[in-house]
Amino acid sequence: MTDRKENLLRVKERIAESARLSDRQPDDVTLIAVSKTFPSSAITELASYGQIDFGENKVQELVSKHQLIGNEYANHPILWHFIGHLQRNKAKDIVGHCNLFHALDSSRLARALDTRLKHAGQQLDCLIQVNVSGEASKFGLEPAEVDSFQDEIAEFSHVRIRGFMTLASPSPDAERVRPQFARLRHVLEASLDRLLPDSRPILSMGMSGDFHVAIEEGATHVRVGSAVFGPRSYGMTK
Ligand SMILES: *Cc1c(COP(=O)(O)O)cnc(C)c1O
Repeated sequence: MTDRKENLLRVKERIAESARLSDRQPDDVTLIAVSKTFPSSAITELASYGQIDFGENKVQELVSKHQLIGNEYANHPILWHFIGHLQRNKAKDIVGHCNLFHALDSSRLARALDTRLKHAGQQLDCLIQVNVSGEASKFGLEPAEVDSFQDEIAEFSHVRIRGFMTLASPSPDAERVRPQFARLRHVLEASLDRLLPDSRPILSMGMSGDFHVAIEEGATHVRVGSAVFGPRSYGMTK
């Protein structure tokens, strides 16, 4: 077995274990393999093992990999997640290139996306990024701003709000960030009746070091990079 196949199986086992601990089924939690900085061949390798969801955090990298690979590989479906910060002037670039956008964090960005989506005759599933760590440097809305933000963007019918995403503070001890994940779950619980009634609400939280805790706190989507692909060396993308 290759390293990546082994990594993938190990991560999936831990996801299943944490799902059971939170009284859910393993299938209730979607693993997004964060492929940033890794070549397209790493994505198609994982797709051949049945991995469906992939995450990228740079617009150009998302677009070039999507153009190269498309929405399936050897009959295995591929879903693309854009998980990075998106500048308003690049909103047009992700249209048609991702299935779920995780980092909606301003009404100006929502407007720009809505305009582009309207022109393209498309809708895009989006998550509102919330800053639950209290760190000033992080992108995302404050939990207290979420409600009025949803009012502001309600008119943008091409942007479909499916749930929330957060980045917890990096910590060697995952238990320490548990309260941050709980905070995002509370944000979701408080706005359940504003989300689409016909689809399961999404909570995108948890990375390689803490996804097990995030799942125990209700994550429906975990974004896992290095635990699947191995350590990243920056500077190499294609
Ligand atoms: C890189 C990245 C991840 C994955 O990080 P790992 O620690 O490698 O699992 C998750 N979410 C976002 C937004 C990222 O940029």
